[in-house]
Amino acid sequence: MSGKADPRAAGEGTTSRTRLDRGRAALGPALELVHTGRAPTRAVLTAELGVTRATAGAVAAELEALGLIRVDARPGAAAGSQGRPSHRLSVAEDGPVALATQIHTDGFRAALVGLGGRIVATAPGCEVVDADPAKVLGSVVEAGAELLRETGRRCVGAGLAVPSAVAEPEGLALNPLHLAWPAGAPVREIFARQVRAAGIDGPAFAANDVNLAALAEHRHGAGRGARDLLCVATGHRGVGGALVLDGRLHTGSSGLAMEVGHLAVNPEGRPCHCGSRGCLDVETDPLAFLTAAGREPGPEVSLLQQSYDLIREYYADPAVRTATETLIDRLGLGLAGLVNILNPDRIILGGLHRALLDADPERLRAVVAGRSLWGQSGGVPILPCGLDHNSLVGAAELAWQPVLDDPLGVPA
Ligand SMILES: [Zn+2]
Repeated sequence: MSGKADPRAAGEGTTSRTRLDRGRAALGPALELVHTGRAPTRAVLTAELGVTRATAGAVAAELEALGLIRVDARPGAAAGSQGRPSHRLSVAEDGPVALATQIHTDGFRAALVGLGGRIVATAPGCEVVDADPAKVLGSVVEAGAELLRETGRRCVGAGLAVPSAVAEPEGLALNPLHLAWPAGAPVREIFARQVRAAGIDGPAFAANDVNLAALAEHRHGAGRGARDLLCVATGHRGVGGALVLDGRLHTGSSGLAMEVGHLAVNPEGRPCHCGSRGCLDVETDPLAFLTAAGREPGPEVSLLQQSYDLIREYYADPAVRTATETLIDRLGLGLAGLVNILNPDRIILGGLHRALLDADPERLRAVVAGRSLWGQSGGVPILPCGLDHNSLVGAAELAWQPVLDDPLGVPA
């Protein structure tokens, strides 16, 4: 970033320019601190960056000039703080956005996501996902382009969440088991082409939906502050897992790590599309739940929504309660195995697994504790995911990353 001239810094005094040169390397880290809510005031920013107050002031002013954050002009005391008043920092309300998109088995969703993981606008779409990925990717990009037109926001780039492992570095959807797509479809390339064709600037990225959910939860939700964060979640169909280590997704040597959906938890269980039997994927997903509860899955709403409705409205029904307990026991068995292997300091659950945890947290925690080596000694916190649309927010994180790495590169 040192080679870049920044015309927007022109007009500043020489002194603040010198401070800014010193603080230039701190721009990215400073933006990330405000983005993740860890620097609510300039005093905290100063302490977190380990720079002088003057440098932190220049850095905050530069990020504000780039239209990325807002610095409260008048210092005010933070609620409950003992220190002296400091300028409050927040992400810019009207700043640029990332286009976030998600494909699931029942359709798609597009959203515009600002810094701080804030969803500015969203548009859901229902359609039968065609065997040709270009069709639904065209629909979701068009929905996103419409949101950008309506809001008139600057766009930093686009991210896509898919219910499949995404092989790196090519960006291939390797196992879209619940979609009709051919295995190995080059989704990132197709997505990037659609984004360019829609006249949207910036780079385009694609990744697995649960990986992205975990990333979003680590930065903005229930995973904040965890060092070894394990996330397990269902989508509309199937089960996925992700691990965030020291703030970075653990994706393995070619993007395919953490396929926890194919951990066997029931040797007598139903056959899985992976070739095995009794995997988490087919034993603890919404279809498995509806089947265990003796309910015929209807076509009106998604299987996930039908499962939520069943737990919320019919939990007194013995069949529903028994199905819930059966799935909790299977999920607990899978989590216990993962705890033994990964030794996480926090587990977060999403989709139907979150609803199972909410329905009977004690039972799930007891199964995990009883079946895991380390679970017995103190236990690993198991929490529900905290964000709405965390895969979308994570898809936006991909598009925001280049700006977080170099805020001076943000489109003017
Ligand atoms: Zn399997």
